[in-house]
Amino acid sequence: MSGGCRVRFAPSPTGYLHVGNARTALFNWLFARHHGGTFLLRIEDTDRERTGAAYEKEILESLKWLALEWDEGPDRGGPLGPYRQSERMERYAPWLERLLGDGRAYPCYCTDEELEAERASLLARREAPRYLGRCRDLGPGERLRMEREGRRPAYRFRVEEGTVEFRDLIRGPVRFDGRSVGDFIIVRSNGIPAYNFAVVIDDHFMEVSHVIRGEDHLSNTALQLMLYASLGWEPPSFAHHSLILGEDRSKLGKRHGSVSVREFRERGFLPEALVNYLALLGSSLEGGREICPPEEMVSRFSLERAGKSGAVFDGEKLRWMNGVYLRQVSPERLLEAATPFLEGAGCDPRALGRERVLAVLDALRFNVETLADAVPFLPVFFSPSVSFDPEAAALLKKEESKEVVGAFAGLLSRGGKGPYREWAGGASKQTGKRGKALFLPLRAALTGRLSGPELDRVYDLLPPEILELRMAEALRT
Ligand code: GLU
Repeated sequence: MSGGCRVRFAPSPTGYLHVGNARTALFNWLFARHHGGTFLLRIEDTDRERTGAAYEKEILESLKWLALEWDEGPDRGGPLGPYRQSERMERYAPWLERLLGDGRAYPCYCTDEELEAERASLLARREAPRYLGRCRDLGPGERLRMEREGRRPAYRFRVEEGTVEFRDLIRGPVRFDGRSVGDFIIVRSNGIPAYNFAVVIDDHFMEVSHVIRGEDHLSNTALQLMLYASLGWEPPSFAHHSLILGEDRSKLGKRHGSVSVREFRERGFLPEALVNYLALLGSSLEGGREICPPEEMVSRFSLERAGKSGAVFDGEKLRWMNGVYLRQVSPERLLEAATPFLEGAGCDPRALGRERVLAVLDALRFNVETLADAVPFLPVFFSPSVSFDPEAAALLKKEESKEVVGAFAGLLSRGGKGPYREWAGGASKQTGKRGKALFLPLRAALTGRLSGPELDRVYDLLPPEILELRMAEALRT
């Protein structure tokens, strides 16, 4: 393909960015970067009741956090803007006029109650709910009468008989029967353009070449293709990827747990890991390899492979992948990602000094799968005392533990902060304890818990007075 492809991600700001939508954004971004094209962001906020500026802000932040940078969008402009539908309202009206003039659209005066009654009676007859065309052929007199009754019309597109066919870039040939679709609303009675109408006009004028979105939009595509044909416009290519499923194989939703990018961020996932997971969800690279840096993702990206069959979201696997990333990112990157967690836990990274904090995080990254997992360990490095968890406290109460801790404490107070191995060896010699019987009491005394980062690294990172304090506190339990 030539370099000129233009793709878009078009979220409606009605909530936080769902990981399923983030995956749609990712596929568009990968497609654009792979083909050297343009990725644009369009905010679909015509429905002022359901959308909110706060959600728009949050979606932009989540996309930036995932490093899915767009080339044109509401915040950075571009040649074919504006990129917010609420700022494009006057652009839709001429096309309604045109469809009305061509007889492809008509005003519909049906009230919500009338439409609901029609729907209920179709459902009662086990027929697909659709508009049966009550206002399709109203004469000018009848229209006038309706207007006099104070009814404000919505505008519907006149669907013609026949099939709509297209070749989906992921799913191959797709066919829709026009009869199953009733005349659909393109402009609501409050003057707001409906989704299908606004999208066609925006995609056309923003010169979108490929529409990549979830398969829940397949039936919309049929309607949009009808609009392209009646407006005499060349439609873009379409690709509908499968959706992310929960473990019960229904569409991933809140009942399955965390679903927004924001939640994953707050739970201590790295964007690198989330992006990698979403890109490969349900598939892997050759040899079953699953860790893939972004440049490689871009060079290997293929739409056909991207989302054919529904993939089950596996939170455990994401945790595992996040752990891999936590261990492989640079110390600086780790510090950047961990800073909100440090601050949230009341640990001031500046108080400890940058080098020390880097060393703390480096010690912790081998024991955790998310940054949130690291939080319970932070007092080990940031507070003078630690609180002993019940298991550690129970262990420290035992006489043989006190012996070990006492021996170690004695070496510390007599010889100062010597090398950990030497003091541990000394305590072993004095008490005859080795292995777990030696290390678990020391770990409990130093960290307040029975598992955690390498003990010698904890020891190295703590100043002598804190080591002594913790030993004394452990002996008092
Ligand atoms: N605003 C629509 C949504 O969030 C966009 C669908 C599309 O890509 O056309 O589902």
